[in-house]
Amino acid sequence: MIFSRDLAKYLDKIRDQEKYQAKLSEIESSINNTLALYNKVVKSGRLSTFKEMVELIDKCIAELPLRDQREHSCRRGCDACCHYDVSIYPQEAELILRFCRKKKIPIDTEYLKQQAAIPLRERSASLTHSACVFLEKGECKIYPVRPINCRKLFRMNAPVHCNAKLYPHGTPGSEVITRVNINVEVVISVLQSAGERTGSMPELLLTAQDTAPKN
Ligand code: SF4
Repeated sequence: MIFSRDLAKYLDKIRDQEKYQAKLSEIESSINNTLALYNKVVKSGRLSTFKEMVELIDKCIAELPLRDQREHSCRRGCDACCHYDVSIYPQEAELILRFCRKKKIPIDTEYLKQQAAIPLRERSASLTHSACVFLEKGECKIYPVRPINCRKLFRMNAPVHCNAKLYPHGTPGSEVITRVNINVEVVISVLQSAGERTGSMPELLLTAQDTAPKN
């Protein structure tokens, strides 16, 4: 089993502690259930399997108690993290393209090419090309099909610490407080164990534009 970075970190922290043994069993059973679901739906094709996994992620996020959700700094209209490079799965690129075609949302291919030409480490520092191609007036144009990495990020630090202009290479560790949803990390771990690999959004969108079926 390949664990996502956040799940691996969490497991390392709790593995040898007596008081977390029940939590460990809970995670183990969540992994088994998610794997079983993945193996069941995978026969229906890569895209529908992916949609199913994304639905599961949304469910895990929605199950977070309201009290905990109120602690998040993430709010509609805050686009601070939309200026950092986003890693996506090839299936996400395809789903985004299909959505844009269906909703007649134009994709600025020239902008994507210019973004892709900037070395990855420098992109968020770019004065003109740090913003995600789908960001418009502080809102996401593809919200229903936004990538998993946009769905799962919940920050509890002040929004200023998510600002790519101030911190183009990421915020200093002590300033960032990210809420990690272990059940979401389980789903991501299952995807990674199934061999799914992410890449940078501009590059994968450009590839998908060339290769994805038109319908
Ligand atoms: S896809 Fe949407 S949420 Fe994700 S970075 Fe782009 S604009 Fe922001």
